[in-house]
Amino acid sequence: MTSDLDIARAATLRPMPEIAAKLDIPEDALIPYGRDKAKLEAEFVAGLDGRETGKLILVTAISPTPAGEGKTTTTVGLGDGLSRIGKRAAICLREASLGPNFGMKGGAAGGGYAQVVPMESMNLHFTGDFHAVGAAHNLLAAMIDNHIHWGNALEIDARRITWRRVLDMNDRALRDIVVSLGGVSNGFPRQTGFDITVASEVMACLCLSRDLTDLQERLGRIVVAYRRDRSPVTCAEIGADGAMAVLLKEALQPNLVQTLEGTPAFVHGGPFANIAHGCNSVIATQSALKLADYVVTEAGFGADLGAEKFFDIKCRKAGLTPSAAVVVATVRALKMNGGVAKADLGAEDVAAVEAGCANLNRHIANMKKFGVPVVVAINRFTADTEDEIAAVRAAAEAQGVEAVLCTHWSEGGAGAEALAEKIVALTERPSQFAPLYPDDMPLIEKIETIATRIYHASDVYADQKILNQLRDWEAAGYGNLPICVAKTQYSFSADPTLRGAPSGHTLPIREVRLSAGAGFVVVICGEIMTMPGLPRHPAAETIGLDADCRITGLF
Ligand code: ADP
Ligand code: MG
Repeated sequence: MTSDLDIARAATLRPMPEIAAKLDIPEDALIPYGRDKAKLEAEFVAGLDGRETGKLILVTAISPTPAGEGKTTTTVGLGDGLSRIGKRAAICLREASLGPNFGMKGGAAGGGYAQVVPMESMNLHFTGDFHAVGAAHNLLAAMIDNHIHWGNALEIDARRITWRRVLDMNDRALRDIVVSLGGVSNGFPRQTGFDITVASEVMACLCLSRDLTDLQERLGRIVVAYRRDRSPVTCAEIGADGAMAVLLKEALQPNLVQTLEGTPAFVHGGPFANIAHGCNSVIATQSALKLADYVVTEAGFGADLGAEKFFDIKCRKAGLTPSAAVVVATVRALKMNGGVAKADLGAEDVAAVEAGCANLNRHIANMKKFGVPVVVAINRFTADTEDEIAAVRAAAEAQGVEAVLCTHWSEGGAGAEALAEKIVALTERPSQFAPLYPDDMPLIEKIETIATRIYHASDVYADQKILNQLRDWEAAGYGNLPICVAKTQYSFSADPTLRGAPSGHTLPIREVRLSAGAGFVVVICGEIMTMPGLPRHPAAETIGLDADCRITGLF
């Protein structure tokens, strides 16, 4: 079988000025990063402000299986499909984290004939944005310990420093560590740890900022520690925000690449989808909307998490109005949601597909609550049978929604033309988009609103300590922030084994964290890992170079 890497390698990439010209981006607005990647100059981006805005289409999905359902692949396919039917289209994706590639196989650039290229570079160092985020994050960490070393004028309680360090590598040995050992000249020993770079609040700040000034203000607002009286200490008080913004100046400029079929693709930013909002940068999305008539973008995980955060955090804060949502469904994932074990997914099982459609139906109904028109994309796998596909269509139609069969993975943009036509028709009328809850609702009520209306929970469990913390933040002026829930993506509930469409469960809040810079309150429900480990046999064992120094084993 032809691998994703084989397909990507066989492609002839067009020169970047040619890709840019499709959106009337002049060559002098491009900052080339080699031959097939470029950044858009900050001045050019700022100059787009007054222009008309294109239509924003969100690609989201049903509750996923561990393999992913093809959201990225469908985003790319739909972008190519729109280009093929003559529309001026662009796609917006997240950048990939380098670390996980050496653990489990699986790139972030789509798959089959619906990919963004150059995929090797995109999955490795790309334009260095993540390294810049890591450097900015760790500069702040160094300055906090340094501040304490030189007398701690801010009276930081060293036991209440919340700012950890980051690294773009899966390294479980660094999850919990002790720093500053070795005596007087090395500072004060304390317990801390590393997270993976994508989990950094600096990443979330970068992705939600309008411009460099906004970015620096957000960085300054980051809460890094608390004093003994529990009052917060910010990054601005440490004095790191200016230097961090300097380190991020280039990283904030959106990256432009291309799909296999030459559709312009903005690949910029990559915040975690659990403790952060999980979508590409506001700057890239805004730029794309000013340059293209149709912009297709992806949000991480299933629609209960990814789409909800996209609407309630990104769109609310950036003033974006999404025109439509595509809910990606696969027969495989519907079967799993219908109770089939992973090992049995190969066998036809129409009844399980029908049962699993309860999950699809719930996601469709949820999208309608945001006032956004919905279409289902059935991302076809070769093993899917006609009867199974018919079952999905019937379920969607019963909801008054069309399900379009898509074959972009095997056929490229041609396999998503029908979906593209449907999107054009759906977005003709203005969207009635509205976020789920108002800014001024108390934090606990916002959480209850998401839990009951999106997850169909009957209630939320939070102990007194958590309720007090939420109240303290409200008193400190953080009450108007939106909520970012971190929970399992495999279920509407906090229990990953409850597939399908569970109702009446309790959403248990384990912890709440303040991301004052990014601008949301993180609500952690269940076990959330911010520093992944490597499996027994990491992919790194088989990654290498062949005799011609070409990369092998990456995908
Ligand atoms: P997501 O964005 O939902 O996580 P991706 O688009 O990255 O999912 O796809 C996950 C994996 O599944 C990729 O390796 C991709 O190549 C593969 N894949 C996607 N669609 C298909 C399909 N129709 N047939 C076979 N493999 C597919
Ligand atoms: Mg994806």
